Amino acid sequence: MMFKYNTDEFNQGVHIRELINYLDYKELLKLQYDLKHGGVHLKKLVEQRIKELESSPKKYCAGCGREIDPSSPTTQTLIFGPPDFKKKATFCAQDCLEYFLNELKTLKGNQRNIKNNK
Ligand SMILES: [Zn+2]
Repeated sequence: MMFKYNTDEFNQGVHIRELINYLDYKELLKLQYDLKHGGVHLKKLVEQRIKELESSPKKYCAGCGREIDPSSPTTQTLIFGPPDFKKKATFCAQDCLEYFLNELKTLKGNQRNIKNNK
């Protein structure tokens, strides 16, 4: 299990290695030049994109349904599920997270019971 504060969106699929493969020779040379000079351009692009992802869209607590304040220290994000099918849930507070985990436990327990009854 992994806890994270509001950062990126998961399941967007493209890794840095793949991203590099998409670039043509000219773009790679530009990137190499930028990195040699401290990666200022790349840094700016990454920061911009992170800001974009963090500012939208609005998120709601998976426990109580209240709107999430990304800057609040009590906000928690849970990433769960198998590695190829990660799901993400955000919570306004610890007790909402715990409530969600208990619900998940009950759900899993029920699924197990259904399987055993067959
Ligand atoms: Zn909540």
